[in-house]
Amino acid sequence: NKIIIAIDGFSSCGKSTLAKQLAAKLGYAFIDSGAMYRAITLYFIRNNVSLQDHSQILDALSNIHLSFVFNEKSQQSDIYLNDEDVAHLIREMTVAEKVSEVAAIREVRSFAVAQQKRMGKKKGIVMDGRDIGTVVFPDAELKIFMTADPEVRVKRRFQELYVTNPHITLDEVRHNLEMRDYIDSNREESPLRRAEDAVLLDNSTLTREEQLAKVLDWVKE
Ligand code: C5P
Repeated sequence: NKIIIAIDGFSSCGKSTLAKQLAAKLGYAFIDSGAMYRAITLYFIRNNVSLQDHSQILDALSNIHLSFVFNEKSQQSDIYLNDEDVAHLIREMTVAEKVSEVAAIREVRSFAVAQQKRMGKKKGIVMDGRDIGTVVFPDAELKIFMTADPEVRVKRRFQELYVTNPHITLDEVRHNLEMRDYIDSNREESPLRRAEDAVLLDNSTLTREEQLAKVLDWVKE
């Protein structure tokens, strides 16, 4: 019988990579909840939504439709913002610089969390984020809290971003990760926390295969 697997942790610990592999192995759906906050942020940037104006925020949210569409070629789900594939656009630095501020807004969180909870009605799902084990799926059968050495995370994110943005610097990436981790951990609305019943996974030195093997053991238990 299928279960819900919640993966939380700081930015760039390798949560999505693990979640994707795990979902493929188990035949589960994989949902990157961070992609939803990033897509909302892209919409806010494009439409100059003021983050201080609650009625503007609510109005903007009422015009946002998010969906995940499975891409046969890449074998993963891409996020669509009002029928536009924004999978690449949401990875840009302009979005990364604003997303934590947007994700701290109460209305934005209730909008995203409601949709995430609906996705969990069908078991057999791996979702990664910051509040999945604490808020979205407090009853998830398996909760994982990932950590990794900060410099390992900076290098990993740098290598990902460098492919499409050769002007990016290690310092820029480091600054962005530190800022997001700070805001994500200190916001009022569902701050990033390890759920009491989450197992800790330190991803500083493990290979992808080692991680997957470890987690598959936990799934069996
Ligand atoms: O996972 P990713 O790093 O792409 O997430 C981008 C941002 O979205 C995070 O820094 C955080 O501010 C927000 N987020 C969140 N809750 C989640 C997932 C992401 O607040 N469940």
